[in-house]
Amino acid sequence: MGGERASRLAKLGIRTIGDLLWHGPKRYEDRNQPHEIKRLAKGDIATVAGPIVASGVKRMRGGRSLFEFIIDDGTARLHCRWWNMPYMNRYYKTGDTVHVHGKLSSEKPRSMDHPEAEVAEEGEEFIHLKRVVPVYRLTEGIKQRWLRAVMWRAVEGYAGQMIDERESWLAGDDSHWLPLPDAFKAVHFPEDLEQTEMARERLALEEFIRFQIQIQEKRKRFRSTIQALDCTGDDRLVKPFIESLGFNLTGSQQRAWGDVSLDMAGSFPMRRLLQGDVGSGKTAVAACAALRAIESGFSAVVLAPTEILAEQHYRVFGNWFSPLGITVHLHTGSKKTLGEIDPAQRELGMDDEALPPVVVGTHALVEEGFALENIGLAIIDEQHKFGVEQRKKLVKKGRYPHVLVMTATPIPRTLGLTVYGDLDCSVIDELPPGRGRVRTFVRTPESLPKVWGFIREKIAEGRQAYIVYPRVDDQGSGNLKAVNQEFEAVQEQLAPHIVGLMHGRLKSDEKESVIGGFLSGEIKALLSTSVIEVGVDIPNATVMLIENADRFGLAQLHQLRGRIGRGTHESFCILVAEDATEEGQHRLAVMEKSSDGFELAEEDLRQRGPGELLGQAQSGLPDFKFGNLIEDWRLIQKARELVARHG
Ligand code: ADP
Ligand code: MG
Repeated sequence: MGGERASRLAKLGIRTIGDLLWHGPKRYEDRNQPHEIKRLAKGDIATVAGPIVASGVKRMRGGRSLFEFIIDDGTARLHCRWWNMPYMNRYYKTGDTVHVHGKLSSEKPRSMDHPEAEVAEEGEEFIHLKRVVPVYRLTEGIKQRWLRAVMWRAVEGYAGQMIDERESWLAGDDSHWLPLPDAFKAVHFPEDLEQTEMARERLALEEFIRFQIQIQEKRKRFRSTIQALDCTGDDRLVKPFIESLGFNLTGSQQRAWGDVSLDMAGSFPMRRLLQGDVGSGKTAVAACAALRAIESGFSAVVLAPTEILAEQHYRVFGNWFSPLGITVHLHTGSKKTLGEIDPAQRELGMDDEALPPVVVGTHALVEEGFALENIGLAIIDEQHKFGVEQRKKLVKKGRYPHVLVMTATPIPRTLGLTVYGDLDCSVIDELPPGRGRVRTFVRTPESLPKVWGFIREKIAEGRQAYIVYPRVDDQGSGNLKAVNQEFEAVQEQLAPHIVGLMHGRLKSDEKESVIGGFLSGEIKALLSTSVIEVGVDIPNATVMLIENADRFGLAQLHQLRGRIGRGTHESFCILVAEDATEEGQHRLAVMEKSSDGFELAEEDLRQRGPGELLGQAQSGLPDFKFGNLIEDWRLIQKARELVARHG
């Protein structure tokens, strides 16, 4: 193959014969039986074939040009038109037989605009004609026929010789799997269209198997080279903590803690994902883990995505741990308590004997300046807000500490099996008992007067409310609500009750005092941007109004709504939107119908795709050519089983 073409193929990600074979067709054309032109109706997408009976370029006003040829398949004529591509005149001549694929744009005369067209040449019939023909994604300088011919040679010459390493793995399997060489042949040059799905499944399975093997090897390498810090512990902190909690851990929490404590006593460092819907009580499990590290002689760090959440953990862990004699520090961009030595402790000469501390912080924890002796456990809360890099950096602060990452973004089943394949996973799948249910309503702005009345009523009953707008400041367009501009209006609506203002641009002590006021109950309603999206835990807040709700993604709406329904009272989430797009309306309808995080996440995945759902930085997913992360749950599962058994 010439260097020129090789470099063009490289643009399609094709550098080796292997890459070539994995470049699947984007669709197929059944050229055994082209459609009859006379049967086509406007809007139909079809392949037709016939000789060109006339062709030429028309010059139009304004320097535009139109190249057109007309084919006649014996049933009717079809006009094929291309604007501003006069050079096409060189490639298509009257008398050539062409195959054309496209959408009928009008019926009188029958026409297609910018269809895909290909001249049938003598000699290559078997590849390009009278069969189900693959149509590939192309790039500049690569022609369909050329690529198809190269693919034909690759399939015949190379795939045919390939040894299917999975043959023995799949031999006893219930489903019938094509051998790999046959799958390549059938995916590129199928005998009929039915074969293509079977072939795709085999190739997708192969991709998932290879991915699983990679993950497994990474794990093996990690486990064989790295010795864990011994966090067997003796329960002298964990036990009194659990007893003092004031509630019993749910069955799911107990199981999760069981998994964690086994890991921490094991011989390689824990790498565990704790997945649980908003409000399921992940923090208490994390606290047990932190205490286990401390009673084993190690410190623990807790990384949170926002200052507000870090402050909350600082407060919660402080309340839980100080009775046990453990110091909790805060380390954020604006506040660092670690450098300060507690004068009382110094006076008592307790410094040496003090238990190792817990440090709670934000991104500031992963920065160069932060150092902590003896880290035994790193906890990363709301993992989906961080990239893989940040996780790695934090872990490097210690000598391979145990790592517990937590997420409330319920990762759809298929993704859970792939993305987090390098983590063990525990799921908290029940909410603590006694939670009031959350009801969700979608409304238009016309209902706002009633909604405000409802909120006033709830506040009068003693509850608190969140009001969420998408913007901090109005950017002139005026169609999205901004908290700074609406603050006064909201205060008027809710007078005489006190309203707090919260957004990401406040200074951290301002945030702290607002949250403090809301927590103490002095502030009755919090007007906020989505900064409160993660983690904030104020059980008395039972009403949430989100305006311009269609501007938020499903995952985000679910997270936001997770701020309510945390106490015993019934909660209400009101989503207000005007002129939402169809997709936006659909999202809101889904929210109204379901409060199940998994269901919502699967829906989100369907709408947005995995990269966006997980954040590019951490998705780390290979680019599957045949596998589909959304639909192929069964294949992913199968690959996992096979690799576990044979890999
Ligand atoms: P999330 O999983 O979203 O991080 P949290 O850990 O913030 O949830 O827990 C939500 C609330 O539930 C907290 O107020 C916490 O104290 C409370 N909680 C946790 N576990 C239980 C339980 N087993 N019984 C009752 N309340 C619990
Ligand atoms: Mg949380």
